[in-house]
Amino acid sequence: MPNTDTSVREVIIIGSGPAGLTAAIYCARADLRPLVLEGEPSSTTDQPGGQLMLTTDIENFPGFVDGIMGPELMANFRAQAQRFGAEIETVKVSKIDLSSRPFRIWVGDPSADEPSHLAKSVIVATGAQSLMLGVPGEMELLGHGVSTCATCDGFFFRNQPIAVIGGGDSAIEEAMFLSKFGSSVTLIHRRGELRASKIMQERARSNEKINFRWNSEVTRIIGETKVTELALRDTLTGEESVLAVDGCFIAIGHSPNTGLFKGQLDMDEAGYLTTHEGSHTNIEGVFACGDVQDSLYRQAITAAGSGCMAAIDVEHFLEDIPEHS
Ligand code: NDP
Repeated sequence: MPNTDTSVREVIIIGSGPAGLTAAIYCARADLRPLVLEGEPSSTTDQPGGQLMLTTDIENFPGFVDGIMGPELMANFRAQAQRFGAEIETVKVSKIDLSSRPFRIWVGDPSADEPSHLAKSVIVATGAQSLMLGVPGEMELLGHGVSTCATCDGFFFRNQPIAVIGGGDSAIEEAMFLSKFGSSVTLIHRRGELRASKIMQERARSNEKINFRWNSEVTRIIGETKVTELALRDTLTGEESVLAVDGCFIAIGHSPNTGLFKGQLDMDEAGYLTTHEGSHTNIEGVFACGDVQDSLYRQAITAAGSGCMAAIDVEHFLEDIPEHS
């Protein structure tokens, strides 16, 4: 059971992916004694460390000439934050009240009268989750042929057959990118018509390496130690078939982790937090960074960069408020 902490923290950081932990490193080095509420493993796609915990090799994070494993990179981020004095609690925030100051944060029972933590400023770095198909083999083979990021993993499938699942702009973008590497890219869509914008559709159709499997859903991802085949079902006829692939990219959308902030922080239509002038949200003293406010770039390095920005914004904010507010 988490303790109730009656002291008012300078800053509490919610989330422990590249954005949250970079913010923690910078806040700790600015002597703000940050507390990171890192979440707790609640499902396979939502856990401390964020989405990089679900990847294997990361070859595009600058500074690692030979690449680094996702979980190892996050362990390094975490250790670096702790080295400078960041406190990290493995708890999930259950409620937050940003309507008065200090801000009030609950972990554990959200109906408890007293909050677990009080803070002058909050950095929201709760990230986003890739939507997953929920079929057998998907989570077992994640990082072993199943991926949710072409930019991160496309390179591993040079001259190999690849499938992309989805029919929106993300799926087309992934397919276009992957066509630079794969021997072929099969775009598998559950309907006979793409959701993607016309211009993206035209680009995909004129790309010789991309072919389409219409009205098809993936029912199972097959492979012992890595992906070898996809089991498909025709959504019109029910006919079943198998497609041999080495890589399977799931691109059916993302969902930002913003449920806690509904009605308090401004969001766009898709639920991403809206920020202005760096990491500022609509509430002074509440800052957002990383994928929770970025539906476009979604890279570890951009998340880390925005975490740095949030920490600097917090520092400026705290400098400007009276000492004991
Ligand atoms: P979208 O929600 O637009 O598309 C999701 C696609 O995945 C749909 O085709 C949907 O099928 C399919 N899908 C959803 N769930 C399942 C499932 N369980 N099984 C199989 N297929 C499924 O998400 P995107 O990530 O593609 O795009 C999100 C937003 O970002 C959009 O506004 C898009 O325009 C934008 N974007 C823009 C880009 C650009 O301009 N370059 C690049 C990437 C994204 P169905 O169509 O049947 O519902």
